[in-house]
Amino acid sequence: MKKILRRTRAQLAASLETGLAGTFYWDIPRDLIIADENITHYFSLPRAAITEGVPIKHILPAIYGGDRTRVRRSLTAAIKNAIGYREEFRIRLPDGDIRWISARCTIRRDADGLAIGLSGLVMDITERKTAEEALRQSEENYRVIVNQSIAGILKVDFSGSIIFSNERFGKMLGYRVPQLLELTVTDIIYEADIDRNAVLFERLVNEGAAYEIEKRLLCNDGSVIWVNNQISPIFDPQGKPHSAVIISVDITRQKAVEQQKDEFISMASHELKTPLTGIKAYGQLLNREFRHIDERQSATLIMKLNGQIDRMVKLVYALLDTTMISGGELGLQKETFDLNLLVEEQLKEARITGPTHHFSHRPCSRPAISADRERIGQVLTNLIGNAIKYSAEGSEVSIHCENGEHRIKVSITDDGIGLSADMQEKVFDRFFRVGAPAPAQGFGLGLYIASEIIKKHDGEIGVNSTPGNGSVFYFTLPV
Ligand code: ADP
Repeated sequence: MKKILRRTRAQLAASLETGLAGTFYWDIPRDLIIADENITHYFSLPRAAITEGVPIKHILPAIYGGDRTRVRRSLTAAIKNAIGYREEFRIRLPDGDIRWISARCTIRRDADGLAIGLSGLVMDITERKTAEEALRQSEENYRVIVNQSIAGILKVDFSGSIIFSNERFGKMLGYRVPQLLELTVTDIIYEADIDRNAVLFERLVNEGAAYEIEKRLLCNDGSVIWVNNQISPIFDPQGKPHSAVIISVDITRQKAVEQQKDEFISMASHELKTPLTGIKAYGQLLNREFRHIDERQSATLIMKLNGQIDRMVKLVYALLDTTMISGGELGLQKETFDLNLLVEEQLKEARITGPTHHFSHRPCSRPAISADRERIGQVLTNLIGNAIKYSAEGSEVSIHCENGEHRIKVSITDDGIGLSADMQEKVFDRFFRVGAPAPAQGFGLGLYIASEIIKKHDGEIGVNSTPGNGSVFYFTLPV
């Protein structure tokens, strides 16, 4: 016991020396405060405070103006009620420095219960107060940012329950925030988009993978809005995800404009298709006629004209495909066929369109596959065509087909200009072409359509490339 007491005293003495704490005793009937070195310094007391004591009035001037009345009041109340108290207030040091102080006092009472003495322990808590203030300000900043944000912000736990929402998200859906806190995300997602979202949310729960999704949400009044959501996991100190933050932007208007644009492209390309088919037929007829009467120059001109018409026809069909894709109308006519034969057919065509290149083909060992033959042919035409377009004459284009356990992989390798990592991410986007000057003619639709066709088959499409060293475009198909 003695040992513990000694240690406690030693600790107290040490902390007093570092200036973090101090003690005093106030003899109330004699109004004398006896203080230690620290208190005497902190409160700018006369040195007599250490030896014979000084009246309480010497303490008060050091207390920061705004806090003085409060401290005086609680001191008076403590004496009157003969109970201890605890206060936090600011003092001004002799050098003008302002410090935060915590004072804890206990009261000594006489036999009648009257307060006759007050012993106090005073601690400098400036650092804690500064940290608290910084935290408060930082929280305040975040609250303002979250509430002023033009994006909806919400937090959900892994059961999907909404545990936080900012005002904006409530407004987007026509709910008050407390109403939202009683819902789960499934309650507000448009039914047709629930499964697509669930797959990604499950990956976030299991692997902590953030994701972005465009989907529809149900409003309180039954209407539907389109949003772009960025979903990020929140991790516990052990690095395990436990909830998610969602930043949600209303893109309903943008979607409507996109839809209008698609409808226009669809209508225009349908309208163009009919006259173009006619022009092409007349062109071929004229070409035959001129050859028949041996008008070679005119026949050549007509052939060139037909070449341009073919380009237009391709564009119109590509545009029709993109509108079908965005309208969710890209249907597949699946059949079982030999993929090696399809590649051979494509290469035969390629040897005609790109006679300047060398082609090689490593076939698959088990080439039977169930897929839409025409659409897969379209993918191959595009990938082989690009390999020719974006590589030098005389270089090699090789097609490699390999069987995996559950899939077939086809790779098209060229020795051409290649693509930077940045471009590789974007080439499958609609209308994307590598920046000006465009190295070859094209519309930036081919790879977009190819990737949608492969995705529709539950396959994958991708590219590996280094600028200047050629590219390998590949796709896989389930078997
Ligand atoms: P495009 O009709 O413009 O060729 P694609 O969608 O087929 O449209 O291709 C998009 C862009 O990707 C092209 O403009 C080109 O810049 C780049 N690209 C496609 N294939 C290759 C390739 N094999 N090598 C280098 N760049 C390529």
